[in-house]
Amino acid sequence: MSENKNPETCNKACDSCSVENCGARKAGGFRIEPNSASSIKKIIGVVSGKGGVGKSFVTSLLAAQLTRDGYKCAVLDGDITGPSQAKAFGITEKACGNGEVLFPAVTKTGISVISTNMLLEREDQPVIWRGPMVANILKQFYQEVLWEDIDYMLVDMPPGTSDVPLTLFQSIPLDGIVIVTSPQELVSMVVEKAINMAAMMNIKVLGLIENMSYAVCPYCGEKLLVFGQSHIAATAEKFDLPVLARIPIDPAIAEHADSGMIEDLIVKEIEPAADFLKNI
Ligand code: ADP
Repeated sequence: MSENKNPETCNKACDSCSVENCGARKAGGFRIEPNSASSIKKIIGVVSGKGGVGKSFVTSLLAAQLTRDGYKCAVLDGDITGPSQAKAFGITEKACGNGEVLFPAVTKTGISVISTNMLLEREDQPVIWRGPMVANILKQFYQEVLWEDIDYMLVDMPPGTSDVPLTLFQSIPLDGIVIVTSPQELVSMVVEKAINMAAMMNIKVLGLIENMSYAVCPYCGEKLLVFGQSHIAATAEKFDLPVLARIPIDPAIAEHADSGMIEDLIVKEIEPAADFLKNI
């Protein structure tokens, strides 16, 4: 059979499709499977254009909110060289296994987490692995960790568009990605890049989350646009994507994330984003 050039006739079920030489199949060919004891219903990637915009924070916050809403969640910390999930959830133990699978840490509200910190002897050790090694560790996190009865796996994706995020896009069957931006970024460009990358891998962009949107004055309650006017609404309209949340700058956020108490933090602005994920 020749290449399937008609996206209308593609049902993305590559395993049962008879079109052999198909672009979609080529992307799917890199897909890996979790181990047979694992079960993961939905996998959401959380991406950003650069570091420091709050991608990891949004990832843990979404997991914490979905858990509060009764779902069993997992966080795969794909930000290998800047891992922060173990710290945000207050995990200090090291990863251990039984020879067949690696066990994730389980947080106090029941979120399963795996992060590079859990493999390092000391938390302050830098990760100085080369790209292919990083990509392999990430694949192992997905394949060799025991992910039991997970409703939502949130993947804290490595920032940017280098070979490491590319490998994750290709190998893990993401149900969609959420793009996190902040007002000080060239939002339109960041979003366009992420959309293009996702499109090349046949992955759906679910929506945008703007972090550090504004600060609320503790005295008068006025919203202060610390990083200037937001362009998120115009960008969302341009690319026909929903804005899932706009999260303010709040010192409580940094305090909770830095002291391992992220699950105790209620951020009401993330609730519509978590609700949105329940319907994908
Ligand atoms: P990224 O994953 O994009 O590199 P992080 O999630 O690690 O960014 O966030 C960077 C720092 O900013 C962290 O210390 C985090 O606690 C803090 N931070 C993130 N979002 C907020 C916010 N809305 N208000 C205050 N601090 C924040």
